[in-house]
Amino acid sequence: MYMQKFLLHTCCAPCSITIIDESKEKYDLTVFFYNPNIHPEEEYLKRKREVVRVCEEWGVLMVDMDYDAENWHKIMNGLEDEPEGGVRCKKCFALRLEKTAQYAHEHGFDMYSTSLTSGRNKKADSIFPIGEFFAKKYGVFFLAEDWKKSGRQEKGRKMVEERGIYRQKYCGCVYSKKVES
Ligand code: SF4
Repeated sequence: MYMQKFLLHTCCAPCSITIIDESKEKYDLTVFFYNPNIHPEEEYLKRKREVVRVCEEWGVLMVDMDYDAENWHKIMNGLEDEPEGGVRCKKCFALRLEKTAQYAHEHGFDMYSTSLTSGRNKKADSIFPIGEFFAKKYGVFFLAEDWKKSGRQEKGRKMVEERGIYRQKYCGCVYSKKVES
């Protein structure tokens, strides 16, 4: 039986563990790690390592994209003081989702989605239109799922605790880090 090829943009292990768990049975799943927003690089590598661990446990392929942090900073120039959830975040989502949709298109995936809607401060309504915009642009279906719903947050928390997976205290960029510290 044909299983649809699904490319899941993954921001970190705690946000994606339940998505990987449930999607692996339904789709031909590949995880896509593209997060040039994460600062500093040490933190980026730490989050990536945990995603690799989860993918290994579930036997899922992972595409590891470049850490083009310099490009991210160029794009965000002038938006340093934006509050979380503002214009800077929309651009940050768009950068990561466009790269995912483009990769999905170029590599024959049927659909794509993102673990970003799992974040407790991330509104699915602000992510869905961006996902759908790039779905149209690249001709790939966008799975618009609010991954924090249907008991997934509680399930994810338990799975993360059981495995001792690292859970970060800030969204990712240097500006969100300043707010937290
Ligand atoms: S707060 Fe998070 S989503 Fe917003 S710009 Fe920073 S890393 Fe990106």
